[in-house]
Amino acid sequence: MKDQFNRTIEYLRLSITDRCNLRCRYCMPEEGVVEVTHGTILSYEELLAVAAVAARLGVRQIRVTGGEPLVRRGVIDFIRQLAQLPERPEVTMTTNGLRLAEEVEALCAAGLQRVNVSLDTLRPERFMQITRRDGLEQVLAGIRAATVAGLPVKINMVPIASVNDDEIHDFARLAEHHPWDIRFIEYMPFGPELDFPPELRVPADVIIARLRELGPLEPLHKDSAIVGPAHHYRLPGWRGRLGVIPAVSNHFCAACNRLRITADGRIKPCLFEGGEYTLKPALRPQIDPLAIEKLLLGAACAKPERHRINEDDYLPPTRGMHGIGG
Ligand code: SAM
Ligand code: SF4
Repeated sequence: MKDQFNRTIEYLRLSITDRCNLRCRYCMPEEGVVEVTHGTILSYEELLAVAAVAARLGVRQIRVTGGEPLVRRGVIDFIRQLAQLPERPEVTMTTNGLRLAEEVEALCAAGLQRVNVSLDTLRPERFMQITRRDGLEQVLAGIRAATVAGLPVKINMVPIASVNDDEIHDFARLAEHHPWDIRFIEYMPFGPELDFPPELRVPADVIIARLRELGPLEPLHKDSAIVGPAHHYRLPGWRGRLGVIPAVSNHFCAACNRLRITADGRIKPCLFEGGEYTLKPALRPQIDPLAIEKLLLGAACAKPERHRINEDDYLPPTRGMHGIGG
């Protein structure tokens, strides 16, 4: 699947719930999400039908996200069904890690191939401040359990000035002795739930400058079969890699290779823009693969060349990140 700018669309982010067991201040309101009626969220059968069409159209990686994907009942069977699609897409997950330790064996057996764990601090009291919940030890246990199970782990950290940016070195150093990719993601200041003002974003070049203080950063060529927007580096002798994702500042959109599906059945061509395509008419009252295909191709065609968050007349999407899937 190609878009108008000749980018190959081969990565699908599938949000399976907008609910979560944390309340990160840059993502989710304190009161959580409004209870929705059962039919608002797509069923696993519907999500699988969308994934199956996407895989036929050339999607090679399907990332299950949320809200928190491990809070939705039945997620293990769903992962198994995704992994068994005829095209055998790579199935990955982004999780806050709270329930990872208890689920990791079943996830591996079901066919999960990689996991990204979001973690913004290594300090218990700060974890509570950022996520409004307790749980750092559980997340760390989840990361360790995934590593023991042989699941490749990336840790995603969002540095925010005067909140946790003094931990950039501590996070980076995790890659010295552990085989983890540590990725620093620029804070994306949009969405109705924002608790940190936009000026607290730590730009990618500042993050990279901090990483250089640790030693000679070697830029790595994009060595993954599925390239994406992260810039990767290694420090000599370190086991894991460092990554920086300049989501807001620059060099991001040219490598965009993805579509997003929200839990309530909308295709989002661009994370930063409000435009959405409604899948439900292609799924209800019965699943229509041809109609799904048309919508996916239409959404791929509608991908903008680049986001406009840095422009004066920018209009942010009305959904928060928990409703999009990151
Ligand atoms: N609950 C899961 C988790 O936290 O990994 C999956 C969903 S979460 C919305 C996906 C990713 O979006 C997380 O890595 C989170 O840190 C990131 N995220 C959420 N809000 C963000 C924001 N305003 N700016 C940058 N990243 C954000
Ligand atoms: Fe939940 Fe993930 Fe959002 Fe935090 S970032 S509130 S863990 S969905």
